[in-house]
Amino acid sequence: MSIRVLPEEVASQIAAGEVVERPSSVVKELVENAIDAGAHDVRVETRAGGKRSIRVTDDGCGVPAAEVELAFHRHSTSKLTTADDLARITTLGFRGEALASIAAVSRVTFVTRAVDEPVGTLLRLEGGRVITRQESGRPPGTAVTVEDLFFNVPARRKFLRSERTERRHIDGWLTRYALAYPALRFTLAHDGRVVFQSPGNDRLRDVLIAVYGLEVGAAVLEIVPDDQQPVSGIRVTGFVSPPSLHRANRGYITLFVNGRWVQDVRLTYAVIQAYHTLLPSGRYPLAVVMVRLPPEEVDVNVHPAKAEVRFRDSDAVFRAVQKAVRRTLLERSPVPIAARPLAAWPAPSAQWRERRERLTGLKPRPAGEQLRLRGERPDVEAPGRVFTPPAGKLPPLRVVGQLGATYIVAEGPEGMYLIDQHAAHERVLFERLLAEREQAEVASQALLEPVPVELTPEAASLLEEHLDVLGSLGFRVEPFGGMTMLVRALPAIVAETDPARVLEDVAAALSAGNVPLADTVEEAVARQVCKRAAVKAGQILAQEEMEKLVRALEQCASPRTCPHGRPTMIHLSVEQLAREFGR
Ligand code: ADP
Ligand code: MG
Repeated sequence: MSIRVLPEEVASQIAAGEVVERPSSVVKELVENAIDAGAHDVRVETRAGGKRSIRVTDDGCGVPAAEVELAFHRHSTSKLTTADDLARITTLGFRGEALASIAAVSRVTFVTRAVDEPVGTLLRLEGGRVITRQESGRPPGTAVTVEDLFFNVPARRKFLRSERTERRHIDGWLTRYALAYPALRFTLAHDGRVVFQSPGNDRLRDVLIAVYGLEVGAAVLEIVPDDQQPVSGIRVTGFVSPPSLHRANRGYITLFVNGRWVQDVRLTYAVIQAYHTLLPSGRYPLAVVMVRLPPEEVDVNVHPAKAEVRFRDSDAVFRAVQKAVRRTLLERSPVPIAARPLAAWPAPSAQWRERRERLTGLKPRPAGEQLRLRGERPDVEAPGRVFTPPAGKLPPLRVVGQLGATYIVAEGPEGMYLIDQHAAHERVLFERLLAEREQAEVASQALLEPVPVELTPEAASLLEEHLDVLGSLGFRVEPFGGMTMLVRALPAIVAETDPARVLEDVAAALSAGNVPLADTVEEAVARQVCKRAAVKAGQILAQEEMEKLVRALEQCASPRTCPHGRPTMIHLSVEQLAREFGR
């Protein structure tokens, strides 16, 4: 075949593919343009997950009538002029590619009015070609409507996921920008319904409340500024969760560099490392961390669509983030968890204290000095330390009874144990399942009839990728066309459970963020299966059942935590009891 120059239309569709992967990429580019235009109010409206239409409206500077067509030319931008400018980028856009790319693969209506012009312009394009241009009345600012994305690229259109998935991606981008720009008001509506709005009052905590809810928003700690700042020119601000608030994956760590959302494994790790010893294993903090540094210290020109940047001195950035978070935890963490009174047991009333004092002659303990869990040191060097259960096996325990259909009360040579029945059972099942897997003899139970289970595309592809892992844990599952999987057998411990539920759980466990580095995929799946299979809180247990469970727990290698790292029990020593009763 002879070499030919590609026709312009094909070339621009290829180029567009780099920038526009799915509806959320359109949202990202248009929102960035609105932010660069100095808007305060940015409104995003989608139909059918953005597949039918996306409209982004802003009150920014608008485009002068004379330049409207130019904005749609490839490599046309108002944001930089010389190659030197590339080394000091302060805007989100700079490639001059987005509008051209979006227009190449959709039908675009661009209505804009520059602040200092009396009337606006409406430009309509289809597959990159201008089909209408007229004057239009509108307030200063810009409204871009993108319809029928990939109408002329069927191969791309076919790869779009469900509306729900596309909406989720859009939600992700919008909440990120809302967090990065608290002074701007972002509104997001899907199919005519407003699903998100940030207040635009320049208070990041208020945006956090809008994104994560009141409880999280109220609990997070504002990053303490560095006094001897910025020798390095690196400034770190934002919010991080106190050690008592954590999540099952690192997806709640959001990082921005100079107002740009970045995915950076090292910086994410810097945040996690700042929590060293403060979180149960397998749990991650929630954080919104903004790094600001001189633009020439960071290269943002890595890839048009990837959230990646390169730092001139990445070690310095790592250290600055890690220190800022650590400093915040040390200075702002509320009462260390280990030193709190046992949850749910009310602190003695003043009246009671007085009476005790009168009857026993004992002085009330000073406020703040409270019951400590056995094995805990006072938190001298490690404020905010969480309950780290002592290692080792359990002594033989005698089951006394059940409390609130949730806890098992047991007695041992050293006092009382309150055992969380669900957490304990999870631990027992988990160790058993992994041991059986080692021996390749996991009990599997065939279903009477194979059950087809329909899943989301992500879930289906994750499961398909890990069929061997599933097999080793007692599943027999096979792809059944499209997004359906056929379940032939389940691990015996969940044989009674709805196969659809179990597969959904497993897919959730497999989704990237849920598999911490130190963990194998097998462990992540096993944890999830055991969680499903374990007795629930609220389930009344017979005496023999409780005894069986406690016996099994005594045999475990790590009986004191559940596979998710939470405690399975609280131990109250004889001395602690005596102290509490003022004996
Ligand atoms: P870039 O953002 O990299 O410059 P785009 O293709 O996204 O490239 O936009 C091209 C140009 O169009 C921008 O440089 C800007 O001048 C103008 N423009 C695009 N969107 C807007 C908007 N919402 N408000 C004002 N100007 C805009
Ligand atoms: Mg742009």
